[in-house]
Amino acid sequence: MTLFKKVSGVVLATAVLCTGCSKAPKGEERFASFPTYNGQDLELTVDDSGTHFALWSPEAQAAQVLLYDSDVDSPVVETLDMKKGDQGVWRASSSEQLYGKFYTFRIKYDGKWLDETPGIYAKAVGTNGKRAAIIDFASTNPPSWDLDRGPAIDNITDAVIYEMHHRDFSIDSTSGIQNRGKFLALTEPDTRSPQGARTGIEHLKELGVTHVHILPSYDYNSVDEAHPELNQYNWGYDPWNYNAPEGSYSTNPADPAARVREMKEMVKALHDAGIGVVMDVVYNHTANNDDSNFSLTAPGYFYRHREDGTYSDASGCGNETASERQMMRDYIINSTKYWAQEYHIDGFRFDLMAIHDIETMNQVAAALKEVNPDIFIYGEGWTAGDSPLPVEQRALKENVAKMQGIAVFSDDIRDAVKGHYSNEEDRGFATGKPGNEETVKIGIVAATAHPQVDYSKGNNSKFAYASAPTEVVNYVSCHDDLTLTDKLAKSMPGSTEADRQRAARLAQTIVFTSQGTPFMFAGEEVFRDKKGVHNSYKSPDSINAINWELKTKNADQFKYYQELIKLRKSHPAFRMTTAEDVANHIVFDDVTEPNVVSYSIIDNANGDEWKEIKLVFNGNTTPITTTIPAGNWTIIAQDGNLKASGLGKTRGGKMTVPPTSALILAQ
Ligand code: CA
Repeated sequence: MTLFKKVSGVVLATAVLCTGCSKAPKGEERFASFPTYNGQDLELTVDDSGTHFALWSPEAQAAQVLLYDSDVDSPVVETLDMKKGDQGVWRASSSEQLYGKFYTFRIKYDGKWLDETPGIYAKAVGTNGKRAAIIDFASTNPPSWDLDRGPAIDNITDAVIYEMHHRDFSIDSTSGIQNRGKFLALTEPDTRSPQGARTGIEHLKELGVTHVHILPSYDYNSVDEAHPELNQYNWGYDPWNYNAPEGSYSTNPADPAARVREMKEMVKALHDAGIGVVMDVVYNHTANNDDSNFSLTAPGYFYRHREDGTYSDASGCGNETASERQMMRDYIINSTKYWAQEYHIDGFRFDLMAIHDIETMNQVAAALKEVNPDIFIYGEGWTAGDSPLPVEQRALKENVAKMQGIAVFSDDIRDAVKGHYSNEEDRGFATGKPGNEETVKIGIVAATAHPQVDYSKGNNSKFAYASAPTEVVNYVSCHDDLTLTDKLAKSMPGSTEADRQRAARLAQTIVFTSQGTPFMFAGEEVFRDKKGVHNSYKSPDSINAINWELKTKNADQFKYYQELIKLRKSHPAFRMTTAEDVANHIVFDDVTEPNVVSYSIIDNANGDEWKEIKLVFNGNTTPITTTIPAGNWTIIAQDGNLKASGLGKTRGGKMTVPPTSALILAQ
């Protein structure tokens, strides 16, 4: 098993096994010459004539299907020899419908039988995903599944994304949830904290987010599903079976249908609440190298290699997949389509997306839009190490304009607002460090070209990489690195909690009023922390769990987030969809003070009822004075308070903007 840690899109290996590196590949030309197969019947189909197995393995010398009665520790009940057919596909059939049975494949390669594998397309698996299962998928559908739909959405910029780990969200006893840490946690209505605050799905509805982004929920490798009593925790960036749900999130990992049914019930409950589901997908690497399911199916083919034949490692986890090869590209397309069709997933977040090539990402987006035009895609536009894939082909942040219907995370706004992601003490605009003003402006215009934004002064990016605001996702924290709460504690020595909550409000106000799509980390709305642990990928619940008593303790903070989300959702001016609109409707004020950004959104932008919105962000620890043109303004935000419907009225003129706060006016 490969253990790894993941730092702000940078995955660093702590222990990498590469047992077969020395003998792995024999040249890229060999893989290019492989026959490919684009049929939709790979690995398993069940129909009236029986059960059919089809394994793509062009270099296998022999192949078998091994049938079992149970998911682990039981003898083979039957072995089917497969016959090689066209296009590198081996086939075997049984005249029976083998529902209830389990199976693996094994191939003979280089003269010896490799270990068994459930294959790469297994859609149902038993404990720890070692054996694939034959189940009737129709029986896993919740009532009215045919009618289930995610929320309609015109553009990704209309989404408010909430990134959540299943265990973080519900494992603490203060969640009041029965199925703590499970898919089913998100199906329980009317759950409450000890103080009576809403938790679970009711909390999400109360907060107002449109989409929940769930951390990896496909079957991953690190948590031993046979021992739930050990309370193991992992983020799940160690993929094992891409097309089956993770067993530790189900109530019974040994029952292959349970995890499928329960994940669908979760999706259905969220959809019924008007909330969409985004899946975090990690096709860029696998948990293991030579003994991954890819390697045991078609050795070498699915990975990139260095010239010396070793696995290249743009993921920092010991390997990287080869999306430019037809069968890997088809695999990503087929797998995401499967999740969209079978589980009604509404969006996909691609981990280390730049390991994939641009062409693959464009084909994925096009295929998903055919399934459901409302599906959106975003990803990390970077790699964690160098890759043999040429830079110009990588799905990098800088190449996002070459991709259709895909957005990238803005590390620009992230680092400018709160300070550098990995330098814990570093401060940013919201915590009083000058020099970030122009990069905050880059965030406000979603990295599109704007006559008043000087990209040469950008901290992270030196050109307008986005061709539309729909290509950028804005955030100040996510599962990686310090939580916003911890970052503020580390970078604001001597501050009070009230000071830090005020800084968090300013930081998120900048994110949620910027063009592009806002994204937040679960629990920030109750000022959750992770006890200063920046890389909690396998930390215990005591670090990762959200304590829902915070919702009452920090009720004012929650209320602020709620109003901020309401403001964004009720005003299209914050959700423009073209670079032209942004350039025409956003006007920055000339400001001489450091650590101040002031601008207007003018002329009923994007059809907004408000003719003009004035925003002044003061990141200083001292008050500033600003002059607001005379008018009949409604005060939306002032001195650390925000109300979407207005806090009061002003005629403009000279106004004070208190330390670490936003002034927002509208008319
Ligand atoms: Ca697993």
